[in-house]
Amino acid sequence: MIRERDVLRPPPPRFPGEGAPAGLSPATEIRYFRGVGPARAEKLRKLGLRTCRDLLHHLPHRYADLSRTVPLGEVRPGETVTVRGRVLAAGRGPGRIAFEAVLGDATGSLRAVWFGARLRAPRVCVPGRTVVCAGPVKPFRGEPQLVHPTVETPEEAEAEAAETGRILPVYPGTEGLPPQLLRRLARTALAAAGALPDPLPEGLRRRRGLAPLAEALRAVHAPASLGEPAAGRERLAYEELLLMQVVLALRRRAARIERKAVPLRISPELDARIRRRLRFPLTPGQEEVLAEIRRDLEALQPMNRLLQGDVGSGKTLVAAWAMLAAVGNGAQAALLAPTEVLAEQHHRTLSEMLRGSRVRIELLEGGRSKKARAEALKRIASGEAQIAVATHALLTEDVRFGRLALLVVDEQQRFGVRQKAGAVAKGVRPDVLVMTATPIPRTLALTLFGDLDVSTLRGFPPGRAGVETRWLRGSRRAEADRAIRGTVAAGGQAYVVAPRVGDEADPWTREDVASAERLAAELRGRLGPGVPVGLLHGRLSRAAREGVMEEFRGGRVRVLAATTVVEVGVDVPAATLLVVENADRFGLAQLHQLRGRVGRGGAPGTCLLVADPGTPEAEERLRTLVGTSDGFRIAEEDLRLRGPGEMFGVRQSGMPELRVARLPEDSRLLLEARDDAAGLVAADPALASPPLAALRAALAERFEDAGRLVGIA
Ligand code: ADP
Ligand code: MG
Repeated sequence: MIRERDVLRPPPPRFPGEGAPAGLSPATEIRYFRGVGPARAEKLRKLGLRTCRDLLHHLPHRYADLSRTVPLGEVRPGETVTVRGRVLAAGRGPGRIAFEAVLGDATGSLRAVWFGARLRAPRVCVPGRTVVCAGPVKPFRGEPQLVHPTVETPEEAEAEAAETGRILPVYPGTEGLPPQLLRRLARTALAAAGALPDPLPEGLRRRRGLAPLAEALRAVHAPASLGEPAAGRERLAYEELLLMQVVLALRRRAARIERKAVPLRISPELDARIRRRLRFPLTPGQEEVLAEIRRDLEALQPMNRLLQGDVGSGKTLVAAWAMLAAVGNGAQAALLAPTEVLAEQHHRTLSEMLRGSRVRIELLEGGRSKKARAEALKRIASGEAQIAVATHALLTEDVRFGRLALLVVDEQQRFGVRQKAGAVAKGVRPDVLVMTATPIPRTLALTLFGDLDVSTLRGFPPGRAGVETRWLRGSRRAEADRAIRGTVAAGGQAYVVAPRVGDEADPWTREDVASAERLAAELRGRLGPGVPVGLLHGRLSRAAREGVMEEFRGGRVRVLAATTVVEVGVDVPAATLLVVENADRFGLAQLHQLRGRVGRGGAPGTCLLVADPGTPEAEERLRTLVGTSDGFRIAEEDLRLRGPGEMFGVRQSGMPELRVARLPEDSRLLLEARDDAAGLVAADPALASPPLAALRAALAERFEDAGRLVGIA
């Protein structure tokens, strides 16, 4: 066991005063701490922990309260508890994925479970021994179960309590490291907390009644009571949200001040000419958002607009109108899609729309020769090509536009490319239109997209018959087969989607998960030679992919076995049936997107989700989908179930991941931070006053564009 006094190993030249925490600075590297050898230092580095400062910002995700143990018979799901009991039985469960132990005391027994390969539990949980466990309790098959608790011998727990108090922080992501280590390291690092500059200006801090940074860090890492961490965490969450909101306020301000490259003029004649090129008259919903976009295009400030509309609401047509408005002004437009399949489809749609015109459209795609790419880039740079369609991966520094007026980003939730827009436009600001089929709940709109105006496309194009969704347990798979046969016999087409491409063994789970390749083979066997089955996934060459899509679109391929490459945007109105295998493997938003592939023509669509979900969360996802087709409700549910990070790829959104704040729980803090940020930026847009120095430094560290933003006069 590591003792407090052992933790700091003095690195001689820099720290005189033998291990005295007073010698610590926020920049002190953890590898100089006693108890941290090269192997541990490396593991810590992988967690993003290199210095004292990193340690201080790595917060516990929960606390074990050793001052109060709960009798085993009184443990209820939903609580976080500390228990003490004798190990009655222990061992790896079936499949050897989890290690399980059953604890007993005079009041009853409780099962505990740990996941992972390198666990401490098997060493401590020896039958007959008494152990102390602390962790969250979740229901499992109707019984409470401790999930991944800390586990210690009573002696260890006692020694620790004597040293650090009875409220023990539990840190995330410490697999392969003794849990006590992080606790000790963090406590030691606290000695350096006072030297950290506090980004919150004191006036603001006092007005909001928040603790100084060092005090908040102490409350979180070394609380004296269970009540303390919450206030500390709240202060840190507020700080994090404030930094983000200041940057967003600065971006909004820059957008108001900066001029765009090409303000568009849209005469009634141009508008009429564009509309003649569109395949349909616009719906009232499309007209409404178009009016908002049109005002932006004609303004002098660059547009920064998010167009949100449910799957199949007809966003592409609106985007096409805007791109043609740019082209009609002698300027260029670019359209970015999240997948090659979708980029190819957009390219096709636009090409058809513009058939017979002089407008040249470039499709930038992977797998083309260097020479072909260079030539395409030249046509884009010279302005010879007016429209470029690409996946976001292909919008790199070497793509330069002669006169880019508009950048459209389709299905933003899959990736974040807005920040790239500036680069390709060569310093001038184009209008940017971001489209998403996953509506953004208000709290997230304020954080991730707080510098965007939002247009909401309501309603659907006429003739949409909707989708009926059903969930089939694996035992009823035959019904899915019958549905496929029936659809094909009636002249329709079907998608069958699997979670993965091929059957390479999954070393972790060895579970039986359907693959697109296997599905295609099985379907061919079951449906017979009369029913052509195609196979589509991202590992196929572009030619093969286009070939299959062409056959499917043309109705020659009747059943398409695919991966989620068909998830977004793929538009084949004649397809009416979607079967998703192992549907529990997919996220909520993803399944909603997938089912948006059917019911696009006049005939109603059917979505069959085949799944035997292994967790209550997966069951809830499936029930939600069966219960509603409202994309807004689904997005909210998704946010609740998964949190914002996963949902929108926060990391790629141009915003750093939220490490402390939680949404939507911290909405109140978010709104306060937003108000305060607006006030700060209005009063001092260069953040030049001395009390803002630490805030400014913190911004520069977290946001690439902060330096530029505070420099805009
Ligand atoms: P999404 O918003 O999901 O991107 P799409 O733009 O792919 O939706 O449109 C869904 C379907 O509706 C497409 O088949 C498209 O051709 C059709 N559509 C779009 N706008 C109209 C309209 N105004 N009238 C009739 N059909 C339309
Ligand atoms: Mg779309």
